[in-house]
Amino acid sequence: MSPSLPSEDPLVRMHRDLARALAKDPDKVKWVMVIDLARCIGCHACAVACVSENKLPPGVVYRPVMEEEIGVYPNVRRRFLPRPCMQCENPPCVAVCPVTATWKNKQGVTVIDYDRCIGCRYCLTACPYGARCSDFGGFYTKPTAELDGLILGRKAAAKGYEDAAAPEYGKTWPPRGHGSPIGNARKCHFCQHRLAVGQLPSCVTSCIGRATIFGDANDPASYVRECMGSPRVFRLKEEQGTKPNVYYLA
Ligand code: SF4
Ligand code: SF4
Repeated sequence: MSPSLPSEDPLVRMHRDLARALAKDPDKVKWVMVIDLARCIGCHACAVACVSENKLPPGVVYRPVMEEEIGVYPNVRRRFLPRPCMQCENPPCVAVCPVTATWKNKQGVTVIDYDRCIGCRYCLTACPYGARCSDFGGFYTKPTAELDGLILGRKAAAKGYEDAAAPEYGKTWPPRGHGSPIGNARKCHFCQHRLAVGQLPSCVTSCIGRATIFGDANDPASYVRECMGSPRVFRLKEEQGTKPNVYYLA
C-alpha cells in the first residue's frame, strides 16, 4: 500500500529540490525520475500534458500510460504504467546511431540533435522500451474541415496548437518546413527546456496523484533520492543491462 501523502504538497518540496540542483555545478547533477505505481490512477494527464508541452504530432507520444488487466474474473482490476524514456545509463539507442545524433548529456539525459538526425530509425529498433517515435509530420486537425473562423475548422486550429513550434533542446522547432523535426526520431528528454528556467517536467506538475517524482539523484536531501531508497523500488528490464534512470515503486 502507498504511504499517505505528506502534509506539504510533494511538488513544493520538488521545486525546492530543483532550485538547489540548479544552483549547483551542472556537472554534479544527475536527473532521475521515480514513478509510484500505487499512486497512478491511469488518468493520462501526464501523457496529455507532455504532448501539449512538446507540441507533439499524431503518433509521437513521449510518455504513454500503459494499461493491463490483472486478476481472475470477478476479482480483476486495471494496472497502469507510465513509460517515459528510461534515460538509460547504458543506452542501446546511442550506440547504433550512425551519425552521432544522440548521446547522454552531463546530467544523464539522452538527447537528440534534430539537425544531425537522418531519420534512419536504428535507435527506435535498438530501444528495448519502445521509448522513441518517428515524427511523420502529421497534424491532428488533418481530417477536419478546411474552414476558417470555426472552432473545429482546420485553419482556426492551425492558428493555435498546430502552428506552435516545439521548444525542445534550447531551440524552437517549427511543425513544418525546413528546421522542423519531421523525419527525425523523438523521445522524452525530461523537459530540458523547462528545467533550464526552473520548472519541473510537465508530466510531474500535471500528475494529480503526485505519482511522478523528479530530482537530482546526487542530492541526499531530495525527495527523489528518498524515494529511490524505498523497499518497493524496481526498474524495467534490468536484465538488459541498460541501467535505467527511471525507477518505479511497486
Ligand atoms: S533516427 Fe536519427 S538519432 Fe536515430 S539512429 Fe538514425 S540518425 Fe541517429
Ligand atoms: S529508454 Fe530507449 S530511448 Fe531512452 S535512453 Fe534507453 S534505450 Fe535510449
